[in-house]
Order: sequence, then structure tokens, then C-alpha cells
Amino acid sequence: MAAQREWFEKDYYKVLGVVSTATDKEITRAYRKLAKQYHPDANPGSEERFKEISAAYDVLGDADKRKEYDEVRKHGPVPGGFGGMPGGGTFRMEDMGNLGDLFGGLFGNRGRTTTTRGPQRGADMEAALHLSFSDAVHGVTTSVNVPEDVRCSNCKGTGAAPGTSTHTCPRCGGSGTLNDDQGLFSLSTVCPDCVGRGTLFDTPCPVCKGSGTERKVRAVKVRIPAGVEDGQRIRVKGRGAPGQGMAPPGDLFVVVHVGKHPIFGRNGRNLTLTTPITFPEAALGTTITVPTLESKVTLKVPAGTASGTVLRVRGRGVPAGSGRNGAKPGDLMVRLEVMVPTELTDEQRAAVESLAAVTDEAPRVAVEG
Ligand SMILES: [Zn+2]
Ligand SMILES: [Zn+2]
Repeated sequence: MAAQREWFEKDYYKVLGVVSTATDKEITRAYRKLAKQYHPDANPGSEERFKEISAAYDVLGDADKRKEYDEVRKHGPVPGGFGGMPGGGTFRMEDMGNLGDLFGGLFGNRGRTTTTRGPQRGADMEAALHLSFSDAVHGVTTSVNVPEDVRCSNCKGTGAAPGTSTHTCPRCGGSGTLNDDQGLFSLSTVCPDCVGRGTLFDTPCPVCKGSGTERKVRAVKVRIPAGVEDGQRIRVKGRGAPGQGMAPPGDLFVVVHVGKHPIFGRNGRNLTLTTPITFPEAALGTTITVPTLESKVTLKVPAGTASGTVLRVRGRGVPAGSGRNGAKPGDLMVRLEVMVPTELTDEQRAAVESLAAVTDEAPRVAVEG
């Protein structure tokens, strides 16, 4: 059972380093070369690799088995969305070391696709990214650090201290899985003794304590488009956790945190700015100069401008996006607030009093009763 399952999880062509259209001769030649290179007698510690190579040749070196293997890989059981497209370039042999729940599911014999589960797509991951106001407005290419469990470099993922002996797990006979045939179905679980490795060791690796994995930080390059908003999630396809076997990796979601600007605010693709003007400026009209993100701009304030009036400066907000989703540039929205002085000089008080003397009483809201 386990061997059959491996058929659509392992890329045997990749194991032998040949293309899927390779001739029988090319396959045999590749196998002989690798088998010599990785033979455990000549190269201690390479048993795993040698086993893989042998398993690959066992299938690809046999015309009938190879035909069946190609069929399974082409049409065989694959998870939704994967679309039966092997060789997506994301598969790495070392991922096979992570057998966690690979065999945890219920699956049927080949052909009974209704009960078959393919390899699991890698998990989606999330990372936070803090951006300055300006970077969020203009867009930026940066990198985020994503912690990740990778194969231990000290023991190459075996979990055994380098140079110490390992032996085949007696419980699963080296397959790493336990099978329980139940009529139509075969229930396959990870061997608890060797946690799917197929081998046991006497001295655990001092670096990973026998787990075979170590935590590394992976820098993922992210292109942040112009105009991202605080709290926005940006999907970086295929940069999440690696998939199991042939399955594709998950996605990385970058959650953007945008810093505040001392002057500007944001409203979608528009920038906002509030500027005070005096009562005489509002009443008589004036021109004012206000900052934009890049430089400055001069605006005409018409006579009789009410407090709270918003002047629109076209194209001075978030810059136009690029590419096929390119959005239009935003505008700068300048809100004018008429200041009321809290303290007046004698001269100012006199002037306001003379203004009051020539001002009609304001039309008030009617008061009932
Ligand atoms: Zn075992
Ligand atoms: Zn280790």
C-alpha cells in the first residue's frame, strides 16, 4: 500500500534526475550512475538516498510499472485545486522527511478515487509587515522574515547524531508506515516508533534533539503595491509552508501595518490634510501654499469660504498603480478650518467690535416656547 501511495507523491523522474520523456536507456544509465554514487558501502549514511533511487528505478525501469505510474501521476488522485499537474517545481525530496500526517488519512486503492486523498498542500502562513506612511503610499519592495522548520543541517534530517549507527525500524520494517487492511480500504498510519523515518537511531542529534528539523528564518521578498491600507492582507503565492510530497506549498499572507504621518491622513487612494485659515482669509479670499507628499502646491481660497470646506488637488494622492490592475492616482483633499482666536490684542478686539457693529444679527434656529 505504502509503495503505491508513494507513486503519486514522489517524483521518481526527479529522483533519477531525468526528464519524464527519458528513454529506457537513459533511465538505466542515470540509475547506474546514482546507485554507484550513493551505494551505502561506498558512501556510509546514504542509505535513504540509495533506497529512493532503487525505488525510483524499480518503477521507471519496468515498462509496465512506469506506464501505470505515469497514468497515476497524470489522472490519479490529487487534492482539489492541484489539478493533476505534477512537477510544479516546488517539490523537494527533503520535504519527504516531514511525514507528520502524510499517512494519517484514509485512502483507497488506486482507482477508487472517491476514497482517495492526495498529498496535502502546504499550510498558509501569516507574517506582519510594518510600513512607513510613505512606503505604503508609494509601494515598496521589501522582505519579511518567516520562521520555518527545515531539515536539520547537522544530521541531514535523520535525527541521528552524525557518525552514529542507525538501524531499520523493526515495527514497520523500514517503510515508516503501518497498514491495516480493512476490506476495500487500507488504513495507513505513521509508524509511532520511528515517526515515519523507517530507521531508529541510538544517539540523537545534539542540534535538533532527534527531531530532524531545526528552526530557521526565511526572508521572503514581497512587492507591496502603491496605496496599501493599514490591516490589508497581501497574498504571496506559494511562499507558505512547503507541501507534502508533490503537493504545492501554501501561501504567505503579509498583514500590513501602516505608520502614521505627522501631517497627512489617508482615505483610500486620497490623502487628506487639514489646514487652518483666518476669518479674514475665509471672508476675503486668499491663496495658500500647502505641502504634498513630494513637494508643495498653491491653492486659491475663494472669498466667502466656509469653515470645513474641502479643496481637491487632483492627482496628488496615492500615485497611479502599475500593471494591469493599475488604479488611478488619488487626490489630495485639503480641508480648510477657520480659526477663532482665543486671545485678542486690544487692536484686534476693536476691529472685531467694529465688524460686529456693521454685521446683521445671525439668523438663528427657531426656539420653541
Ligand atoms: Zn517504524
Ligand atoms: Zn539534527
